[in-house]
Amino acid sequence: MSQSIEPSARRTQPTVLKFGGTSVADADALQRLARLVRRAYQSTRTVVIVSALAGVTDALLTAVDAAASGTGDPKRPRPELDALIERHQGIATRLARPQGAAGLGIALARARAEIAELLNAVAREPERRPALRDEIAAYGERLSAALVAAVLGAADLPARYVDARRCVLTDAAHGRATPLFPQTEEHTRAELAPLLDGELIPVLGGYIGATPQGVTTTLGRGGSDYSAALVGAALGAREIQIWTDVNGVLTADPRVVADARTIPALSYAEAAELAYFGAKVLHPRTLQPATDHGIPVRICNSRAPGEPGTLVTAQGVGRVGAVTAIAHKSGITVLQIPQIIAELRPLGLVAIESDRAIVCVVGEGLRTTPGIAARVFATISDINVSLISQGASRVNLTFVVDNARAREVVQRLHAALFALEPADLDTAAAAGERMP
Ligand code: ADP
Ligand code: ASP
Ligand code: MG
Repeated sequence: MSQSIEPSARRTQPTVLKFGGTSVADADALQRLARLVRRAYQSTRTVVIVSALAGVTDALLTAVDAAASGTGDPKRPRPELDALIERHQGIATRLARPQGAAGLGIALARARAEIAELLNAVAREPERRPALRDEIAAYGERLSAALVAAVLGAADLPARYVDARRCVLTDAAHGRATPLFPQTEEHTRAELAPLLDGELIPVLGGYIGATPQGVTTTLGRGGSDYSAALVGAALGAREIQIWTDVNGVLTADPRVVADARTIPALSYAEAAELAYFGAKVLHPRTLQPATDHGIPVRICNSRAPGEPGTLVTAQGVGRVGAVTAIAHKSGITVLQIPQIIAELRPLGLVAIESDRAIVCVVGEGLRTTPGIAARVFATISDINVSLISQGASRVNLTFVVDNARAREVVQRLHAALFALEPADLDTAAAAGERMP
């Protein structure tokens, strides 16, 4: 089926669509992805950023760890790589054109041999491990992007694979690289603008980049969101869309609070605090490029595209007096700077506190509404709380509790701060929702 829209009618400011691991996990997910890309492309220039297929980055990094610990025999058959390659090939066979699937098959066979060789190098050359780890992890996004481009092509969408390492330039901090912003902007534009001018749809892997010398790097786990923001900023995108497996940013982590609700609108500051303090739905550094360039970020569910999701802009929701969401981060160790510990030790006052969690209550309303802190701490008055702080942006109230109590703290705060208001009840009843 060909596009009915005239090229001239398509908005020139592009939209960046980023699909996370579960949104590219299998053939059904890729069919949904193709529908979403088609819908976007009908009205706007479109750039697609993809994560590795769900579980692939973990599988690659596990293989690196096994090779590094010497448990891997360099000559062994590596069935885990076969399974990974077969997974991509199976989807291509189902959804790509025969020629596309065959081309991908060649690329997959080559990738398998290269990864096996790199794993051998991991065992042999300990000093190169950080670089090799990134090189190997990058295959996840490189292969998913090639697969998605082939699947879109078969759906009559003019997609082109682009090697993201030619766009996102970074320093050499392997595993947590920092982008070189001017170079990234320049290279991204140079690579993508001609494709967009030609009405093509660039498809790039997220998470990966390269140093100016061409050495592969990664932006840290979950970094594909950040890639989308970097590319969006470089292109002056009209919107950055993060397609994931939940209905937007929710009032708390849905794995902890079963009745967490979608937040329709967030300010950049609120979203940044939530991401920084553990809301995994957004990589912590995603908001910075979007904020700097004033680009709206929309978070949507690729399995339920009709749901409104969350829109992040400078203004946010503007609901004064309300707490917007609660985030938390487990497994925190609270420690003093070592030199200070050494100096204080004679006084017998110093302890390093492990097994702690940070809980962060976020809301633009915190800037102006007195009494929220009192309400928060009254709700959990029987729980030991330490290190209370209000962030520089003043949209968060952050404190530390015992790891073992973190889930309970978040659940109790959510119940107290997000009790359904009468208006919500009406809306929910009208929508036929199940009441919590
Ligand atoms: P993707 O693979 O699409 O990048 P992630 O797994 O990285 O998806 O992020 C989405 C997940 O983030 C959700 O499935 C949810 O479990 C988790 N999450 C944690 N906190 C929140 C929150 N406040 N709102 C939405 N999701 C959250
Ligand atoms: N695939 C990478 C990861 O699993 C990056 C991402 O999904 O955002 O961390
Ligand atoms: Mg993610």
